[in-house]
Amino acid sequence: MRPHRAYSPGLTGVLPPEEGRHLVEVLRARVGDRFTVFDAEREALAEVVDLGPPVRYRLLEERRPEREVGVEVVLYVALLKGDKLSEVVRAATELGATRIQPLITRHSVPKEMGEGKLHRLRAIAKEAAKQSGRLWVPEVLPPIPLGEVPRVDQGLLAHVGARVRVREVLDPEKPLALAVGPEGGFAEEEVALLGERGFVPVTLGRRILRAETAAIALLALSTAGEGR
Ligand code: SAH
Repeated sequence: MRPHRAYSPGLTGVLPPEEGRHLVEVLRARVGDRFTVFDAEREALAEVVDLGPPVRYRLLEERRPEREVGVEVVLYVALLKGDKLSEVVRAATELGATRIQPLITRHSVPKEMGEGKLHRLRAIAKEAAKQSGRLWVPEVLPPIPLGEVPRVDQGLLAHVGARVRVREVLDPEKPLALAVGPEGGFAEEEVALLGERGFVPVTLGRRILRAETAAIALLALSTAGEGR
């Protein structure tokens, strides 16, 4: 049988009907054939013991898939209107962020975040981590004023009109801090201040993206683009 990965929640030793049918009817599995079983948290080499239905298997060797980027990836994102931070938190979790730090900026419309919202964002991070097979749930922190962003080792700041591209400056071996502005953009003095703290302004293309899209694009270029 050719190499195959079957989804089997809980790795219970019994394949769900769809997965079992695929294994037997399409892949023509035989007793003794080996394949991979996985769920959101685990992955293991398995051997077919009964063609069923249901198909039964035994676990041979459990593997722990690597799901983390390998360095810390902190996303600084301005407070956004409505429920847009939910989208950012969900996608940032899928794309490997290790921490999400909302920022109060000059042009942010909301100037604070309620406890309820923070809890909701944390629940979204947890849910997205589970769905994407991560064991690490990114921390979502209460907002801080932009002036409190610490000096970083390697920082990229998404800025309309910047010329530098992510791939020209990204060092994948170093911890990374990313910054995305609000709907109204960062004020020039905020760009200057973040520059002093180690953030290089980068472009995300010639179009003006919504802040949520910009956060996703910046993370994608820094993690997915590197295959991490
Ligand atoms: N009205 C603002 C646009 C803000 S877009 C202006 O003209 O500056 C919201 C945020 O998304 C920006 O602060 C920036 O961080 C990011 N962004 C949007 N499009 C971008 C692009 N093409 N390149 C880099 N960053 C971008």
